[in-house]
Amino acid sequence: MSICYIGLGSNLGDSIAYLDNAVDSLRASQAITHLSLSHFYRSKPHGPQNQPDYINAVARFETSIDPHALLSLLQKIENNNDRQRNGERWGARTLDLDLLLYGNMIIDSETLIVPHPYMRERSFVLYPLQELAPDLVFPDGETLANSISRLALDDLELIKRG
Ligand code: ATP
Ligand code: CA
Ligand code: CA
Repeated sequence: MSICYIGLGSNLGDSIAYLDNAVDSLRASQAITHLSLSHFYRSKPHGPQNQPDYINAVARFETSIDPHALLSLLQKIENNNDRQRNGERWGARTLDLDLLLYGNMIIDSETLIVPHPYMRERSFVLYPLQELAPDLVFPDGETLANSISRLALDDLELIKRG
C-alpha cells in the first residue's frame, strides 16, 4: 500500500459537481481506500487568463496499483466527466486530476512525472495539501512547510459549502 496525493481542478460547467463526482468515483474504486479530502478552494487560472476561475482540492488515499495504472484510472475518471483534450495547454476543463505524490517515489517517464513538476509553485495545491498532511516531507527532503513559506497566497479563496 502506498499513500498518494492527487490534485483536483475544474473551471468549466458545474465545477463543484465535477469534483464531487470525481471523489465519488475514487471512493467507489476497488483500487483505492482511506480517501480523505481537503476543503474546496477558488483560484485564478494559470496560463491563458480568458477563462473562468478554478475550483481546486487535494485528496489523499491509499492504493496498491502502480503509478501508471493510477494515472490511467485518473484519466478514465476525467474522460467520464466530459474532459475534452483540445491541445491548448492549461486551457479550460471540466475536470483535471493530477498525481502529485506516490509514496516517496520519484518517477520521470514519458507519460508521468512524480512528484508533479509544478506542485511546489502552486498555492492551490500546497494549501489544500497542508490541510491533509501538515508534516509532509517531499521525496527530496524538503518540507511542505518550507515550500509553502516561499509561496504567495495569490487570490486563493476558501469555499464555504452549505
Ligand atoms: P499541469 O501538469 O501543468 O498541471 P495539465 O494538468 O493541464 O498541466 P494535462 O493536459 O492534464 O496537463 O496533462 C498532460 C499530460 O501530462 C498527461 O497526458 C500525462 O501523461 C502527463 N503527466 C505527467 N506527469 C503527470 C502527473 N504527475 N499527473 C498527471 N499527468 C501527468
Ligand atoms: Ca493540472
Ligand atoms: Ca492534468
